Amino acid sequence: MVEGPGHVPFDQIEMNMKRQQAICDGAPFYVLGPVVTDMFPGYDHLVAAIGATAAAYWGASFLCYVTPAEHLALPTPADVKAGCVAFKIAAHAADIARKLPGSRDRDDAISQARADFNWTKQFDLAFDGQTAREIRSRDSKAGLGDDFCSMCGKDWCAMRISREVKDMSQKM
Ligand code: SF4
Repeated sequence: MVEGPGHVPFDQIEMNMKRQQAICDGAPFYVLGPVVTDMFPGYDHLVAAIGATAAAYWGASFLCYVTPAEHLALPTPADVKAGCVAFKIAAHAADIARKLPGSRDRDDAISQARADFNWTKQFDLAFDGQTAREIRSRDSKAGLGDDFCSMCGKDWCAMRISREVKDMSQKM
């Protein structure tokens, strides 16, 4: 396996990936991120996940994750979790874009659960259902209903309105 660079401007990632594949006869290539800008210490897991998504899309075989502590300190367990989640997102987004068989199945199921306001199913299918459930519970504690959330509010919930329009059209 060939080790790749850890800092690459976004517009040069495609060229790096293609050149490595050509020069190394398609040998597996792994990248650390890559970090696409140096201006956000403390957020390098996000900065690197952006580069990792592009690198994976252009054929990286392995993504080496980066934590928020990169360039600053030894990562804590919370830093490690944040980095791993960011890179799981990067890898999954690239899998979808590369149209790997089955990569979208869970996304489609969550979309349907969302449209149905089936919160339990949405949390069950989510990568980190516990975190999603905790955030959603803020609305439950505020006594808000199940067919919208506090992001847009009941009157402007596009999914609730779409469902009402659909129900109405089916009755006509
Ligand atoms: S209120 Fe807005 S964000 Fe919340 S479920 Fe409805 S459309 Fe989605």
